Amino acid sequence: MQGAVRGRGARAALLLAASLALVGLAALVRYGVGVAYSNKALIIEGLHVGVDVVITAVIIVSMVLARSRRAQRLPYGLFKLEDLAAFMVAVVILYLALEVGIEGIEGPVPSASLIPAAAEAATIPAILGAAWLKEKAGELLRSPGLHADAVHTIVDAVEGGLVAVGLTAFWLTGVAAAYRVALIVAVIGLLLAAWEAGRDSLLSLLDIPRDRSLIDRVRRIATSHGVEVAEARARWSGPVVFVELTIRTHPLISVEDAAIIARRIADRIKKSIEGVWEVIVRIEPCRRKRFRVAIPIDKPSTEAKPSRHFGRAAYMAIIDVEADGKIRASKIIRNPYQADKEPLLSGVKTAEKLHDMGVSDVAVINIGEVSYGLLLRHQILVWRAKHDKTAKENAALLAKGQLEKLREPTHEKPWASRGSHMEA
Ligand SMILES: [Zn+2]
Repeated sequence: MQGAVRGRGARAALLLAASLALVGLAALVRYGVGVAYSNKALIIEGLHVGVDVVITAVIIVSMVLARSRRAQRLPYGLFKLEDLAAFMVAVVILYLALEVGIEGIEGPVPSASLIPAAAEAATIPAILGAAWLKEKAGELLRSPGLHADAVHTIVDAVEGGLVAVGLTAFWLTGVAAAYRVALIVAVIGLLLAAWEAGRDSLLSLLDIPRDRSLIDRVRRIATSHGVEVAEARARWSGPVVFVELTIRTHPLISVEDAAIIARRIADRIKKSIEGVWEVIVRIEPCRRKRFRVAIPIDKPSTEAKPSRHFGRAAYMAIIDVEADGKIRASKIIRNPYQADKEPLLSGVKTAEKLHDMGVSDVAVINIGEVSYGLLLRHQILVWRAKHDKTAKENAALLAKGQLEKLREPTHEKPWASRGSHMEA
């Protein structure tokens, strides 16, 4: 396995070396002929592919550094090195474009000649070949940085073609405007290279999202796993992205289960979004906005104190309350199972009915094991009601997080205590 990785790395290194040699050669030919014929358009083209060699070299060096053992020990790696280098290169390119461009546009028009046009055209196949080699190396190393660089090089080949056309027209017609057009195209190409190298690296250095659609994709992946996304962030660093995600799970999901969901989400994000290096998922219990609270009562009023019974209470107060304790709606229902012959079943039926009514929480003084278990199974939370507060007040306290959650039923196994000798 490691041998295969090393083999792939060696092949990629060969491809990249060949690519650099081709672009380097193109740079020398263009620059040399440009100087010889005082052709500023060709000089700019030579400088452009020359700095492109530097940009590719920066990508390769930072890739090697980022994958080094020393860098892997750093919490965020050394990926920003690439951004820093790319930004400095961008500044240099911008300077070159303005300096040489203005000089060329203001300066004299060179004599019309075939050689600069031929030199520009002859170097285009080399540049296209270099782009192909970079793309192949990028595939081998799964490097988005190299892929982007290959795309840039293809654009350069097209731009070089336009310059070649301009220079050829100038040679054929001797019209100065044709030369100026070629020159301006060359300057624009150089400015674009500066913009491309500079923009992404500056955004990375400032931690401004480079691509907001990536954050949307992260959110979509998380919500497809049935959790609420509280926050999603991405931090670009050279060719990679660090993702931070805060999810909210239902309050009844155990920490262990939540961790499993978090790991699944992280794996899916890494697999389906290119360049994601690490995903950190924070888990928060869901902060609910609305609660539908059921409280057993003995008198048909929300001002009544909670009943000491659950299944055998005469009425249920069903109260819709907001997180700040504001009551939105309330109603009283008669408990049809109060007089059930089998006390165990009355609790079960009551619990089922509450579930059907969309109740999210129950506040009780007492509750048996079976009813308690059934409520939990329906993901209804059970709280200890305050016996000296009204149903309404209890609902408000619950919403504001001021009631204690019941960790277990208040009385267990009512069937086991009926004359059983096992208990004693
Ligand atoms: Zn370029």
